[in-house]
Amino acid sequence: MLVLHDPTTLEHKTTELLGSKILQALECPERLISILTTLKGNSDHEIQTITLKDDSPKSTLLHGLIESSHKSDYLEHIRTAHGNWLSQGLVDQDATVLPECFPAHHLFASSQLNSKVRSPPKDIFARAGFYAYDMSAGLAEHTWSAAVASAGLALEGAEIVSGQHAERKDKTIMALCRPPGHHCNGRMAGGYCYINNAVIAVDGIRHYSKAGSAKTPKFVILDLDFHHGNGTQEYFYKDGEVLYVSIHGEDEYPYYSGGEDEKGEGKGLNCNVNLPLKSGSTVDEYLDKADLAIKAIDSYQPDYVIVSLGFDTFHLDPLGNFKLETEDYETIAQHFKISQALKLLPALILLEGGYVVDALGPNVQSFLKGWTG
Ligand SMILES: [Zn+2]
Repeated sequence: MLVLHDPTTLEHKTTELLGSKILQALECPERLISILTTLKGNSDHEIQTITLKDDSPKSTLLHGLIESSHKSDYLEHIRTAHGNWLSQGLVDQDATVLPECFPAHHLFASSQLNSKVRSPPKDIFARAGFYAYDMSAGLAEHTWSAAVASAGLALEGAEIVSGQHAERKDKTIMALCRPPGHHCNGRMAGGYCYINNAVIAVDGIRHYSKAGSAKTPKFVILDLDFHHGNGTQEYFYKDGEVLYVSIHGEDEYPYYSGGEDEKGEGKGLNCNVNLPLKSGSTVDEYLDKADLAIKAIDSYQPDYVIVSLGFDTFHLDPLGNFKLETEDYETIAQHFKISQALKLLPALILLEGGYVVDALGPNVQSFLKGWTG
């Protein structure tokens, strides 16, 4: 399988509030090193290194897609906050800007005062909280460039799977996105996510398929991270041309989304399928949910498959509580192939979470073996 990687994505390194401590973020560059080391030793995979040149047409397209799906003031903050803090002596070069005060929308009883927490504040500390919803998406020196590079891998994959790349015609691709994307809603960073890579993948394929055919493509986003992809759900909640299907930990982070009753709205009604799974679930319980996902996907009849693939479902993961083991990922990926859509359609797999560094490479390899086998 073709695996896309951009070395720029390794430069992003932050600290986070975890429990009661400020620690190096679990979403760290070593995660990618583990995957690259494992896959380089396996002749089934071809790792292609991508580096987008700043002034290239594809870079212009990428920035256009990011700007059309994420708010401009939010992007400006992600791009400039660390530099602004650094120039004012508020953060060290290698340290992370972390928020300390969040706009709580129920803070004021009066609706007039309440509207204040919806406007970007001028204060530099307040802004850090305005554009984030937790303390796991801090901003470091290379956060912006890595997030853009990560989204660039999704776009590169989109160009190839849509058949519009000059050289590559691969139908199944994994993009080693880092930072991940599925928690970003375009207005706030959270859950290690700054730019939503699944959104860039969908919008990228939409862009490229305009050149190839008149038909408007339909997508399924299959989100297999332990955590619900609140950001991706929000983007496509009213979009009838994208089916979002997520298997995730019940009542887990991000806590306020992921219920079975969230089914989409308007044109997107019944295009949002949440399949929460209880703490301690094993592979057999996971496969029962996978059957429900497959049923929804095949009846929707998509043209493209985007997989938001996280490995925090692993039994040792510090941020998850399922009981999946390395060999289970091959079983799960194989099982999804009983779906006609997942068996036959172009698929772009995007890396999301997974925080047991040593196990991440073998877990990715196991999933890809099942998916391609
Ligand atoms: Zn996760």
